[in-house]
Amino acid sequence: MSYQEPAPIKNQENPFESMMSRFDEAARILGLDKNSYNVLKSPAKTVIVSLPVIMDDGTVQVFEGYRVVHSQAMGPSKGGIRYSMDVHLDEVKALAAWMTWKCAVVGIPYGGGKGGIKCDPRSMSKGELERLTRAYTGAMRDVFGPEKDIPAPDMNTGPQEMAWLMDEYSKIQGLYTPAVTTGKPLVLGGSSGRVEATGRGVMVTARAAMGKLGINPMEATCAVQGFGNVGSISAKLIQLQGLKIVAISDITGGYYDPKGIDIEAAIAYRNQNGGTLEGFNAESRITNEEILELDVDVLVPAAMEDQITKHNAAKIKAKLIVEGANGPTSANADLILNENNVMVVPDILANAGGVTVSYFEWVQNKIGYYWTEERVHRRADRTMKQAFEEVYAASQKYGTSLRIAAYIVAIDKVSKALAYRGVF
Ligand code: GLU
Repeated sequence: MSYQEPAPIKNQENPFESMMSRFDEAARILGLDKNSYNVLKSPAKTVIVSLPVIMDDGTVQVFEGYRVVHSQAMGPSKGGIRYSMDVHLDEVKALAAWMTWKCAVVGIPYGGGKGGIKCDPRSMSKGELERLTRAYTGAMRDVFGPEKDIPAPDMNTGPQEMAWLMDEYSKIQGLYTPAVTTGKPLVLGGSSGRVEATGRGVMVTARAAMGKLGINPMEATCAVQGFGNVGSISAKLIQLQGLKIVAISDITGGYYDPKGIDIEAAIAYRNQNGGTLEGFNAESRITNEEILELDVDVLVPAAMEDQITKHNAAKIKAKLIVEGANGPTSANADLILNENNVMVVPDILANAGGVTVSYFEWVQNKIGYYWTEERVHRRADRTMKQAFEEVYAASQKYGTSLRIAAYIVAIDKVSKALAYRGVF
């Protein structure tokens, strides 16, 4: 495999600093006491491991793996694991803190954590990925646990990685332990509706926000950046609401058609085309930067961090941004978007549908009884709608953006939990 570093993301701002600047602002508005502030500003635990893996050619490669537990004040820490060459400690720290706030926003009994392995999964065989996942699980055996820290899929990981992780952990414990992770395949204790859950939550919060803005879905247009699990399913479900999806994109670039793109066809194409949209037939090709600046009503950044920054925020024409990705907008960009009256449904609310159904999966694993897809959808939709209304009400009360309101709602809950438990 190759070890070339990918080109740095253009105009990148530090995601941990972006997270902290929102946290600081919300903490100030809330009048958060100094003690709680000090506890919550630093992650509770940071684990970095070296993972030796025998590659298919017989050589041993050593990969770097991370797990950051930001907080366990509200319950066991929860959050995904990503496989990417971009993984680095500051990113994982920010993502772990976002999980704390996300779980609190939707009111599920978890703290926040995140993990990652610096690797290029596309250049690795299935066997190499399995050995890497098992090595990581073994190295994190004392970190993970159904009542301690519960991983899940994130960028470039999915049900197969979670199955290996669950299997390895169960072998180490000598005990079948499905609740150690979520996002598992259905046949191994996964939950109905988990695969669609994040995209479905994006659609539900987009609908709620369109209602507040008076945007008629039957007349609105939308662009979706990113065509992985979150982007593709968000696009599909938003299209079913009547919006015209005029552009989609993935690592191969953007695909634009003012007449609208058939998302089902794009998903089928991607699935038969080795996982990318390369060669997909659209009216024209655009870049991943241009897709953000299209003249659409709704923009869904569902790719990765730091896509909307101070460098391009002023060029955004959408009235509504719904953040499918974690951290797609930098704190500096927020100021410009607020100034321009662009409503942003923040990541810690918009993409919380995934972790909400992860919670349902964990509950089902613990009780050993499985819900219908209809029940999962109904409960997740209700959770997302309630969370949206709670955040919207806080934004009205405090006169802030939805983002700062979401942080206020979250920090208020986590700091109360901390106060009851005490620091000693
Ligand atoms: N990786 C997803 C997220 O960022 C899901 C986490 C989970 O289900 O625990 O929200």
